[in-house]
Amino acid sequence: NEPREAKPSWLKVRLPHGREFWDVKHMVEGKKLYTVCEEAHCPNRYECWSHGTATFMACGDVCTRACGFCAVKTAKPLPLDPEEPQRIAEAVAHMKLTHAVITMVTRDDQPDGAAGHIASVIRAIRKTSPSTIIEVLTSDFNGKEDSLRSVMEAIPHIFNHNLETVERLSPLVRFRAQYRRSLQVLQNALDLAQGKVATKSGLMLGLGETKEEILQSMDDLRAHGVTVLTIGQYLRPTRKHLPVIDYIRPEQFDEYRDIALSKGFRHVASAPLIRSSYHAANFRPEEDVL
Ligand code: SF4
Ligand code: SF4
Repeated sequence: NEPREAKPSWLKVRLPHGREFWDVKHMVEGKKLYTVCEEAHCPNRYECWSHGTATFMACGDVCTRACGFCAVKTAKPLPLDPEEPQRIAEAVAHMKLTHAVITMVTRDDQPDGAAGHIASVIRAIRKTSPSTIIEVLTSDFNGKEDSLRSVMEAIPHIFNHNLETVERLSPLVRFRAQYRRSLQVLQNALDLAQGKVATKSGLMLGLGETKEEILQSMDDLRAHGVTVLTIGQYLRPTRKHLPVIDYIRPEQFDEYRDIALSKGFRHVASAPLIRSSYHAANFRPEEDVL
């Protein structure tokens, strides 16, 4: 397959506007926090920030992995900042978020993969914003169950770990992560929480996957208990990243949404600009996980 370079019209995004956007930007910068919105060059950042929604990136802004699709810098990471959980919690409270998304770079340098740090972030948010829904989007912690357990013991409402792509393309797209291990991480999170968590995952399309492979990934996620799914278009952050093979049409995303719902997912967001945390607050977990 030949890479596609010119973006179709449905991927055009709006420019920054509005006071809310700049308020959030200045507050986040003032607290020396990183948002995945900026670090990952998310195409929705102007819209989300204008609505007072942001996804915080914990554990610094450099990653120990270098996935072929991701714009986050790869380098030797700095030590974890023990003050970061409190600063994130203050920002969540300041923004009066009803739904906070906390994601992380992968910290293979840390013995626990920084799971304890993420647990501290969850606890700090719960203390300052007790009614906020807390969603974590984590690494695979190298498959270490003890690390996952410490995150789940802090009781996030939503546990999100992205499959990113279909099984065949995983070795090309996700440096060091493994498709089957990610499925197991999602299953283990559900089991450790004894079902009292909603598990969520996401797929990027346009990397050369087939429709059959996408439907198989949906089946695999359902077989591992996942009930919330996001599906979006892969966009190449720079020319050093993997090329876009296909721009999937909006109608095709609609079809995937309908298929996913028919397979038993409770909430599905599927459109070209959908990202893991886009309109995350539209999904509210069942009463039994609140
Ligand atoms: Fe940030 Fe998520 Fe919105 Fe993108 S979709 S701008 S990462 S909150
Ligand atoms: Fe990006 Fe996550 Fe891969 Fe790190 S592990 S490069 S943050 S996708």
